[in-house]
Amino acid sequence: MEAAHVLVFPVPVQGHINAMLPFAAALLDAGAHVTFLHTDHNLRRVGRAASVASSPRLRFLSIPDGLPDDSRRSVGDLGELDRSLREVGSVRYRALFASLLSAGSPNRAGADDEHRFPPLTCVVADGLMPWAIDIAEELGVPALAFRTSSACSFLAFMSAPGLFELGDLPFPAGGDLDEPVRGVPGMESFLRRRDLPSSFRRRGDTDDVDPSLHVVAKASAHCGKARALVLNTAASLERSALAHIAPRMRDLFSIGPLHAMSPALAASCSLWREDDGCLAWLDGQADRSVVYVSLGSFTVISREQFKEFLSGIAATGYPFLWVLRPDMVWASQDGVLHEAAMAAAGDGKARIVAWAPQRDVLRHRAVGCFLTHAGWNSTLEAVVEGVPMVCWPFFADQHVNSRFVGAVWRNGLDMKDVCERGVVERTVREAMESDEIRRAAQALAQLVKRDVAAGGSSATELERLVGFIRELSA
Ligand code: UDP
Repeated sequence: MEAAHVLVFPVPVQGHINAMLPFAAALLDAGAHVTFLHTDHNLRRVGRAASVASSPRLRFLSIPDGLPDDSRRSVGDLGELDRSLREVGSVRYRALFASLLSAGSPNRAGADDEHRFPPLTCVVADGLMPWAIDIAEELGVPALAFRTSSACSFLAFMSAPGLFELGDLPFPAGGDLDEPVRGVPGMESFLRRRDLPSSFRRRGDTDDVDPSLHVVAKASAHCGKARALVLNTAASLERSALAHIAPRMRDLFSIGPLHAMSPALAASCSLWREDDGCLAWLDGQADRSVVYVSLGSFTVISREQFKEFLSGIAATGYPFLWVLRPDMVWASQDGVLHEAAMAAAGDGKARIVAWAPQRDVLRHRAVGCFLTHAGWNSTLEAVVEGVPMVCWPFFADQHVNSRFVGAVWRNGLDMKDVCERGVVERTVREAMESDEIRRAAQALAQLVKRDVAAGGSSATELERLVGFIRELSA
């Protein structure tokens, strides 16, 4: 694989980076050269530590995302970032190929040290950026699509045009969100309208859905044009969805959860500074006594929702560790919410951090359950550690994922669409105390660990993918 040089290019937000970085590590393990492409903004945030790669066959490069420095970027609006990347970032992406295609480019921008990269042979780009796939192919480099969401949500987006044809989309105004959904193959028995991604819902009083649905559905269909689709999931989690996706792709590789295969590199691309102090705090707590609360990297909630969560969790009496990003609650001043949370918990019973080393937290013996937005990375991380989940999905694939948690895998509970203190209290208590849920979570963890172990389905698929990339690179 020495001659293979793969460009790995995620959508520049934390969850996508976290999924694709361990993939880069797996390619390195297989002997490939890897250029990992950030945006300038993110590379600055990640800092120097990450830009000095641990292997001479890995380098981090960047292109501008086209937004002004003070833009909030993804928080609350991925559309703006998407548009700017497509219009501005893509021009610089195309220009970058001139140097990537020339033999012997140095292993860091501007550096002229001993190790030189072979010419680029393959691109693995985030499937939400179809233009990145098209440009690579136009310039003669074979391109694969990588989607960082669950297979089940990908299938839901693939099925959207069919739902429009059936007349089921947009859902009728004032219609019942508990109606079963037809037209998403393999999921008719348990998927309700409310379990489809939130963009499927009617937008306010309009006659249409959220425009982002059309964008994501189109990007999903476009993955069928790439040389292959790569998904960060495991057969034991999503066998049926994978079987329905495969015939619509040129090839399909399900190789996850990737973080469970190559964890070493993943720590180096955090966009926030991790507060390790919470691990020492967890050391002082009893086994399975702590509720870990995190809604991911860009969910934004209202002050009312914050209050309901806080009151509900505090009422359980369990100690809690809460990730409260400074930009997480609309129109709130830094510090005020932090104090409110500490006061509600009582002495020593809470720890509030701006960003946690989540994978280490979930692995800690003191964590009893995870109150999460059910982003796909967070879901996989909880699944691998066998931690029961309480899901409060917010947008994108989270609504589908949380339905799987509550109704298919049964490793947690789904609080979808309800944010009331009484419900929060009841649901968290049940997730902390139910033997049935804990047993299901642990059994699922065992299945997934088998998938990623040598000879397991994900490990075997990863080997097949390495061979596929080797052939494309020959
Ligand atoms: N994460 C973290 N520390 C935190 C909160 C989140 O390291 O305090 C990581 C988490 O482990 C996961 C990612 O951020 O890998 C969030 O991705 P996910 O798909 O769950 O949600 P998103 O942020 O994309 O909504």
